[in-house]
Amino acid sequence: MVTRIEHIAIAVKDVDASAKLFETLLGIERGHTETLSVERVKVAFFELGDSRIELVEGIGSDNPTAKFIEKRGEGIHHICLEVEDLPGTLSRLDAAGFPLIDKVPKPGSRGTSVAFLHPKGCNGVLVELVEQHRPSS
Ligand code: ZN
Repeated sequence: MVTRIEHIAIAVKDVDASAKLFETLLGIERGHTETLSVERVKVAFFELGDSRIELVEGIGSDNPTAKFIEKRGEGIHHICLEVEDLPGTLSRLDAAGFPLIDKVPKPGSRGTSVAFLHPKGCNGVLVELVEQHRPSS
């Protein structure tokens, strides 16, 4: 079961330029900004209550985000939905015939687990699923 929209990711050519635009649009300052060298992306987050907007810039021309922009232009790249049980959700969706990009969860940022579903099975939308791992006290 999906519990909330964790974030919406927007592919942009220049995170810093777009962050200024979104600061004006949203009326808030950008939050966490990070360069992920393994993923070859630079990201900036805007915290919006219980949800976030993530701006993503591909670093170099040979990465999925840059290729996405080349093909489709800047725009919404994926939506991220939070689930309570990611492995269970993946088995349920796999059984229901959804094409999974990640058959098993992989590590996401801030100690989360994530997995992507192929857009061809989701009306053209790239869907990321995330499970938070809150420390159990
Ligand atoms: Zn994401």
